[in-house]
Amino acid sequence: MSNDDFRVEHRYLGLPERFYTRVQPTPLINTRLVCFNHALAEDMGFRTDQPDEWAKVGAGAELLEGMDPVAMKYTGHQFGAYNPDLGDGRGLLLWETVGPDGRRWDWHLKGAGQTPYSRFGDGRAVLRSTIREYLCSEAMAGLGIPTTRALFMTSSTEPVQRETIETAATLMRVTASHIRFGHFEFASYHMGKAAVKTLLDHVIDLHFPEFNELPEEERYQSWFESVAKRTARLIADWQAVGFCHGVMNSDNMSILGETFDYGPYAFLDDFNAGYICNRTDQGGRYAYNRQPQIGHTNCQYLANALLPLMDEDALRRSLRHYETTYNERFVQNMRDKLGLAEAQDGDLKLVMDTFNLLHRHSVDYTAFFRALSHLHSRGPSPVRDLFVDREAADDWLVSYKERLEQEERAGKAREKAMLAANPKFILRNYLAQQVIDAAKTGDYSPMQDLLTVLAKPFDEWPDFEHFAALPPDSGKGLALSCSS
Ligand code: AMP
Ligand code: MG
Ligand code: MG
Repeated sequence: MSNDDFRVEHRYLGLPERFYTRVQPTPLINTRLVCFNHALAEDMGFRTDQPDEWAKVGAGAELLEGMDPVAMKYTGHQFGAYNPDLGDGRGLLLWETVGPDGRRWDWHLKGAGQTPYSRFGDGRAVLRSTIREYLCSEAMAGLGIPTTRALFMTSSTEPVQRETIETAATLMRVTASHIRFGHFEFASYHMGKAAVKTLLDHVIDLHFPEFNELPEEERYQSWFESVAKRTARLIADWQAVGFCHGVMNSDNMSILGETFDYGPYAFLDDFNAGYICNRTDQGGRYAYNRQPQIGHTNCQYLANALLPLMDEDALRRSLRHYETTYNERFVQNMRDKLGLAEAQDGDLKLVMDTFNLLHRHSVDYTAFFRALSHLHSRGPSPVRDLFVDREAADDWLVSYKERLEQEERAGKAREKAMLAANPKFILRNYLAQQVIDAAKTGDYSPMQDLLTVLAKPFDEWPDFEHFAALPPDSGKGLALSCSS
């Protein structure tokens, strides 16, 4: 822990006591620190040449001075039904630090043992799901999409019962705030108006200080509007990159508009508009094409929780920004992917035609846009080759090229811009599975390699071409269960 340049705070403890319970981690046995995010640590204001010095903290066996672990209390809507019994069931907020650039970081040890909110759970996280969360947080960050981050992870030989017997692991998850929509639902439905106000003032002070200059009513409305817009932008970014979250419950929605809680997520391989990545989600509530609507529903849950404090009409007006922000961001994201520098009325139709084409012909989403990015220098063959029915691709290419002819930007400049908008590397589930299989034998080098590539997914990585390969048929569209 040399060269520390951060300050310790724990502002969450300033909230009323019902928002948390103090809990000590339950140490894991036979632990090993297996991954450490040096670049992130440096951003946070510390550096280490010996990640092992964090092994005991990761194992839940040691606390640093100033750490005061708590399980946070929140509630939320799960698959549309309100659950009052939620809270950190297996993760503990250890402390908050403030880095050299003034950014705040919550340190949350996920998999640290049981808490009063564990219900029937064992308080543990398995190696498989910990690796998946680590990989995806860093993949999202590499794509430039807001997300919680992975600071380090620890493996253990401690057995954990899931569908089979697996082993436990922990993740040090960090982000500016772990406060969820569900925190507001808890405050509103179980504590009352004063608690909602206290929580909201806390959130604004720490994370939205610019609104403190506004008169109270306007301040709260601006805050809600800002959260609705952040959420809309986040989900528009997910849709554009083909990300399916899988469990968009309101307790998994960050008030900062970050991707939060990586469970049975997936990035689309072959494009399938109604893709359901969560095997437990039989009705498809959180299918890929329903995510934008579900984001709105979650903002509605948040608005309901704010009713004691705010005018209903004002909330309704603010909520409308969700839809406009989403539409704007989504079509702009897709223009970027299609290489359109100028906005035209027919662009949304072109996007929808593109989605229909990819859906009908089950074309790999990421590979399609990457091949399309090279259209100027490599011609249409790499795009056509992704289709069994090449004529279908030709028809689409004709209308696409007509649209390109109306662009001022030169082909070469467009190609460069498109390569920066269309990742070559995406965290496919089959890749995550390969990394997990190696890690189970104690080999973390595939994980390190994949992380290297995912940190800069728009670049060429000649040594790692295999990570851009299309999945084998057996590795396509893997749906995962919630068990983690
Ligand atoms: P999730 O579906 O990951 O959002 O989790 C929903 C709730 O279940 C949260 O309150 C979690 O803390 C809790 N939970 C999930 N897994 C476990 C576990 N193994 N032990 C205790 N609580 C858990
Ligand atoms: Mg959760
Ligand atoms: Mg989870």
